Amino acid sequence: MTKAILRETPRQNPCAQCGTPIPRPDWIEPGEGRVSYIWTCHACNYRFEAVAIFDEVAVERPPLAA
Ligand SMILES: [Zn+2]
Repeated sequence: MTKAILRETPRQNPCAQCGTPIPRPDWIEPGEGRVSYIWTCHACNYRFEAVAIFDEVAVERPPLAA
């Protein structure tokens, strides 16, 4: 599973493998100062996780890759 760090609630998140936009997360898991989003791509069946950070901790933001 690929892990991405996001600052906002993701919408139309591109699949980490094939780039197909996914309208909304499959699963949302709230945590302390962060929310984990599990995405499932219905085009290629790839599953990945994105984490939204809501406090001022240093955030890593990898470049969006197709
Ligand atoms: Zn995909």
